[in-house]
Amino acid sequence: MLTIDEALTRVLALVDGTGVERVAVADALGRVLAEDVVADVDLPPWDNSSMDGYAVRAADTASGDARLDLLEVIAAGSAPTCVVVAGTASAIMTGAPMPTGADAVVMVEDTDGGLEAAVQVRAAASVGQHVRRQGESVQRGSVAVRAGAELRAGALALLAALGRDAVVVARRPVVGVLSTGDEVVAAGRPLAPGQIYSSNGVALVALAREAGAIGLDLGNVADDPALIEQALASAVARCDVVVTTGGVSVGAFDHVKGVFERIAGGIDFWKVSMKPGKPLAVSCAIRDGRRVPLLGLPGNPVSCMVNFLEFVRPMLRLAMGASAPFLPEVQARVAAPIVESGARVKLVRVVLALADDGAVVCRPAVGAAGGPQSSGSVVEMAHAHGLALLGSEARRVAVGEVVRVQVFDPSYAARPARPTLPS
Ligand code: AMP
Ligand code: MG
Repeated sequence: MLTIDEALTRVLALVDGTGVERVAVADALGRVLAEDVVADVDLPPWDNSSMDGYAVRAADTASGDARLDLLEVIAAGSAPTCVVVAGTASAIMTGAPMPTGADAVVMVEDTDGGLEAAVQVRAAASVGQHVRRQGESVQRGSVAVRAGAELRAGALALLAALGRDAVVVARRPVVGVLSTGDEVVAAGRPLAPGQIYSSNGVALVALAREAGAIGLDLGNVADDPALIEQALASAVARCDVVVTTGGVSVGAFDHVKGVFERIAGGIDFWKVSMKPGKPLAVSCAIRDGRRVPLLGLPGNPVSCMVNFLEFVRPMLRLAMGASAPFLPEVQARVAAPIVESGARVKLVRVVLALADDGAVVCRPAVGAAGGPQSSGSVVEMAHAHGLALLGSEARRVAVGEVVRVQVFDPSYAARPARPTLPS
């Protein structure tokens, strides 16, 4: 049996870059930046005022009550025309360029607000006060946003402030999800005896999209090798990665491994020391000289989601060059005992919460009947925020112990009630 780490290393060896494309900054939310963006301007581009007030020579205000002759009014968007010399000042608005000769700004509240011939300044200014210096935020020639960054609103704002209207980002890989099983039916159709609604296609497409990829639900196909082969071949023709669910174990109707072998000419089938998600079939088809990884995940709804999170997600994110390819982790204090069996590494689906002392606490996510976790019980995934990692030796984790948790839903940190804010 492989460790999770060994299996991950082998899966990641299948990664090829996705290639890049140029997109408008306004459309780049959530994309992975594929270039270092070098600032070709300073930010701020010139010394400017951070206040509505008066540009002065600090020395002129030392007495704390000075009358200065007014030279001009500098609005944001205009350029100063006068040099501030001893005994003078210019009115200046927030964001307007500092005039030559001035070394400080006095805010309007510390003056009589005069805009005619003179202004009375009623506070002593210190040199540099309320002045934003050229280049103090970003220096021209420096890297403002690094390749691999996932672009959120703040990074997009910085790119826009630098005058960039387009950026080079990783192409989103197209991930096809093919569900297999005679018993599975898409929602919206009546169920015959023995049938269940398929959840895996919807689940894995959603996880692919959360990873930043394009998820395509290729539907459900019966446990028929010819039909699976046909569906898989057409998936390989249009996807960068193909994920299947079901039919990879040792059951009489488990045909996926055989089809992988025929389509890709070989297959690795691993038993991975993990619970859930032990079986994993991996292969690689070739289309137009490019590798198309095929990943056969188990059919149990929790197992396939966990395997996707552990193996497919990092593979997709590395292919896009993301600098954070792996799930974030927290240390969580156990708030209800975790009882497990089996000699594999356990990935326990846990509900996270913030305790009153600010610590993260976890308890196993369970279904309505409160029984043990089951790889077939998708309700656990609906309520869980993360996966607690327990070593193969672990059987019982007591209240108060601390465990590592991979977080796939950070909403646990949100407060249900309106937070009390500092006053
Ligand atoms: P298998 O891996 O094919 O042996 O399936 C294992 C379990 O997962 C069985 O109980 C299946 O009914 C269930 N299963 C397989 N595919 C799906 C699916 N698409 N949605 C929900 N459950 C599924
Ligand atoms: Mg099956």
